[in-house]
Amino acid sequence: MTLSDGSKLSAALVITATGVKANTDLVEGSDINTDQGILVNRRMQTSNPDIYAAGDVAQGVDFSTGNFEVQAIQPTATDHGRIAALNMAGQGDEHHGTLNMNVLDTVGLVSCSFGLWMGVDGGESAELYNPDEFQYINLQFDGDHLVGASSVGKTQHVGVLRGLIESKIHLGEWKARLMQDPTAIMEAYVGCTQELGYA
Ligand SMILES: Cc1cc2nc3c(=O)[nH]c(=O)nc-3n(C[C@H](O)[C@H](O)[C@H](O)COP(=O)(O)OP(=O)(O)OC[C@H]3O[C@@H](n4cnc5c(N)ncnc54)[C@H](O)[C@@H]3O)c2cc1C
Repeated sequence: MTLSDGSKLSAALVITATGVKANTDLVEGSDINTDQGILVNRRMQTSNPDIYAAGDVAQGVDFSTGNFEVQAIQPTATDHGRIAALNMAGQGDEHHGTLNMNVLDTVGLVSCSFGLWMGVDGGESAELYNPDEFQYINLQFDGDHLVGASSVGKTQHVGVLRGLIESKIHLGEWKARLMQDPTAIMEAYVGCTQELGYA
């Protein structure tokens, strides 16, 4: 494989990713502002308040950062559509943001990432790497909140990871336990929600 600087690398497998480019052509020359996508506010209104945008084409608010970004995944499109529809019908509220996430099945090996999987400044992380079992898990904490996660080869906790991040639940003593054993994510979820009287 030859890189753009002319250097060569030998590899058995090459994976390339191009990312996603929002098609904003339809609003070109109009009063609707664009950046990476069509800019919207928390009600999914464009710079023309009578016109809404949602889904891949919209640059909406990110749950984890509060920044406005294109998140080209189906759950975000669904969420955007719901918020836009409610606001168009006069029953809307401000959008709290969508969680960036990806779940990928690569010839049977499931990998996933949620939220701030790369971590935050001053945050802490826990990691388990078990190549013999094709398993990996990485948790990212900000204080005693789980803010991001990535994993390979473990699927049973995927919903719990999302739930813990989106609920911004205080992990309390469970954080230290997860730092020791990041696979104890289900126990942490049940423990935290029980302590709050949810379960
Ligand atoms: C190969 C592939 C795999 C994917 N896998 C996943 C996945 O595993 N999980 C996941 O969450 N997401 C996945 N996605 C992303 C997901 O498909 C999109 O995020 C989602 O479909 C976005 O919905 P949308 O309604 O915003 O856009 P779209 O589904 O693209 O719908 C937009 C519609 O608008 C129409 N349109 C465009 N321009 C005009 C115009 N000027 N006038 C009228 N109509 C117009 C288009 O024809 C299209 O029907 C994948 C995408 C691709 C391409």
